[in-house]
Amino acid sequence: MKRIKIEIPVILLTIVIISLLGLSGNFVYKSLSEIVNSMLSESKPDNTLILVKDIAIDLNETENMVRLYSLSNDNDYLENYRSVNESLEAKFEELQSIYNIDSSRQLLVDSVLLLAQQKIVVWEKTLNLHLSRGNEHEAFNQYTETLDTVLNVQDTVHFEEAEKRGFFKRLLKKPQPPTPVIVDRTVEKQRLQQEIEALEKELAQRNQQMSSAEAVYMRKNLEISENLSEIITALERQEEESFLQQSQEAELLANETYERLSYFALSVFLLLFLVLILFFRDLRKSRSYQKVLKKAKTHAENLARTKELFVATVSHEMRTPVNAIYGLSEQLLQKQHDEKTQEDLRVIFDSTKHLTELVNDTFDFSRLEKQNIQLMPVHFLLDDLLHKIILYNKPVAEAKNIRFIVERNKLEKLVLFGDEGRLKQILNNLITNALKFTDEGEVKLTVAVKEQKKQIYLEFEISDTGIGIPTESQEKIFNDFVQLDTGINKKAGGTGLGLYIVKKLVNLLGGKITIESEENKGTCFFVSVPLEKGDSTKLQQTFKSYDTPAALKGKTVLIVDDAAFNRYLLKSIFTKWKVDFDEAENGQEAVDLAAQNNYALIFMDIRMPVMNGIEAASKIKASGHKSRIIALSANSDANSINDNDVFNDSLKKPFDEAALYNIICTTVEEKPVNEKANQEKSLSYQPDLSELKRMGNGDPEFLKEMIDLFLKTSEASMQSMDENLESKNYEAIAELAHKLASPVKYMNVTGVYNTVKELEELTKEGGNSTTIGQKTEQLRNEISVLNKELEALLKEKFK
Ligand code: ADP
Repeated sequence: MKRIKIEIPVILLTIVIISLLGLSGNFVYKSLSEIVNSMLSESKPDNTLILVKDIAIDLNETENMVRLYSLSNDNDYLENYRSVNESLEAKFEELQSIYNIDSSRQLLVDSVLLLAQQKIVVWEKTLNLHLSRGNEHEAFNQYTETLDTVLNVQDTVHFEEAEKRGFFKRLLKKPQPPTPVIVDRTVEKQRLQQEIEALEKELAQRNQQMSSAEAVYMRKNLEISENLSEIITALERQEEESFLQQSQEAELLANETYERLSYFALSVFLLLFLVLILFFRDLRKSRSYQKVLKKAKTHAENLARTKELFVATVSHEMRTPVNAIYGLSEQLLQKQHDEKTQEDLRVIFDSTKHLTELVNDTFDFSRLEKQNIQLMPVHFLLDDLLHKIILYNKPVAEAKNIRFIVERNKLEKLVLFGDEGRLKQILNNLITNALKFTDEGEVKLTVAVKEQKKQIYLEFEISDTGIGIPTESQEKIFNDFVQLDTGINKKAGGTGLGLYIVKKLVNLLGGKITIESEENKGTCFFVSVPLEKGDSTKLQQTFKSYDTPAALKGKTVLIVDDAAFNRYLLKSIFTKWKVDFDEAENGQEAVDLAAQNNYALIFMDIRMPVMNGIEAASKIKASGHKSRIIALSANSDANSINDNDVFNDSLKKPFDEAALYNIICTTVEEKPVNEKANQEKSLSYQPDLSELKRMGNGDPEFLKEMIDLFLKTSEASMQSMDENLESKNYEAIAELAHKLASPVKYMNVTGVYNTVKELEELTKEGGNSTTIGQKTEQLRNEISVLNKELEALLKEKFK
């Protein structure tokens, strides 16, 4: 919901940004295209004006042609005049068509057309005038020529009088030449003379009339021309005005566009700014969330680690006392008691058994969570495993009156190689559950084997006729801390970890587990686990009865542990075996007792008050006591036990009777470790770094560092030893030798190690100064040889 709340403003803002950008972009686009269009229309020529000007030019040409013709009477001009007139007609039509498209100039165009046509009419009339005058002149000239000829002829020739015609007929039609008749012409000549004069007069008069008519036309023409040029000027002005108007409009539009553009840029800037603010705000928030998350994660991891550590430590620490109680109650139950005590002991035993299972489950759970379980494969007989399972579960089945059947399918002699312990744990857990949730009927374990190549699949079926598990719960019962709500659970308890551990272990073994169940009918678990074929010659020895170990018969042992229950557990077993024992609560008591008694075996706890187990064991060994010493160790003590060869062996707590029996048998027969080590490793002065390499997983840096450290430590130790030798501080020398022993041991030089240990013993014992001096000298020499070897090694290997 919160996520949606954060996303809504972001989505809205995005929509607003996109719409604003779109709108502004659209505005700007429109404005720009308007400007471009207006500029385009401005750049186009005004066709009307051009055409009108063209017509005016043509009209001028018409005028010129007519004038030229009137002056020259050249017919070419006449022809030109006609063709210009034709082109004028075409232009009129064009102008007309423009006017049809653009009606705004209707008046102007009409005026132009009218004026142009008037002008043409004027010039047509003027031309006609000239044409008629030209004819008159020609006729008149011919006439006068004829008259002249007649006048010059002698009177002997009489001219028959020509038919009488009108003046214009005579002008236009050639007069018929008179038929010569010889006559007296004097009178006639005079008359003709008079006639010519009259004709000339008439011609002059006509010329006069034509000139005045032409003048009228010219005036008219002038008027028309003026009108036309006025129109052209008006058109030009109109054009100019429209250009001015359009450029003003374009300027206005450009200003508007600039304004829009600046608004657009401003809004883009503001929105971007807003987006940036939001972005950085979110970034800051997400960073702070990340920090908080990281902190929370580390915290949770720490908590989980602490929890794991707590569970692991508590369950581990609880195992020792719980096992002690369990072991003791087991031992006590084997003794004779009155009925009431026996019953009480049985209750204690059952409760402790349950507690042991609980602690073991918790411990396993914590180790499985940390993936800290190592498989321990051994060669084992399947029959042995089944036998142990029967022994473990039979008493419960009998107590509940349930048949417990194991079907082995003739697999008794099958030897397998795998983690028998974990397999046993899986099966016991499933059978315990089956018995727990079944009140009558049977619990059956069926074993079958499937072989695939080298691999053997052991297939187990654990079925019961109990309460069953509802289908919807069948998956979740494998989860941790899951218990179904049944009356049995409330009564019998449990942790809800059993099946979780079972599934994890089955997976760890590489197998799988499935379940089939029907409520009130029963449950069946199917487990399939891959195992290898085992080697019967490598079968582990199993002790079925734990009688007194032969090596301890008639001997006394010393039990050293500050925990009373641990001592008590051991004491009980030794009492059963009829082996004598002494007890000590700390290392010092053990050293004192060892000084006075001869013990066949000493069981030494490591961590104790007053004096710890290692120190005590060292002192006992140093005093020349020949007892074998077995360290009673917890896991955390393993390193310190390995570093000190004062122990012949170690027994990990918690242990059972079998483990105790086993270790007694092996340790008492074995030669003391010190002697063995001395025999094997005597006189080795050459460093052998194989152990160091193994420890460092072959890392050369680790090896180099260790050698460097050894060189420094050993030289510093030798120097301090020399100083302490002078001041006769032998205790300090002992301490120095003790500290040097461990590094020397890592270099695997047993000869030098022996010398260190001898020096340590000598100084501890407070031996005489000459011997101590000699031993120190010997050690100095051996160390210097060893260090030279190591330096050469360093140079050679780590150039
Ligand atoms: P618990 O330690 O409580 O037995 P488990 O993990 O072993 O825990 O079992 C989880 C739950 O599964 C049990 O509490 C029980 O309700 C159910 N369950 C396990 N095995 C059976 C069975 N054979 N028959 C019926 N219910 C079973």
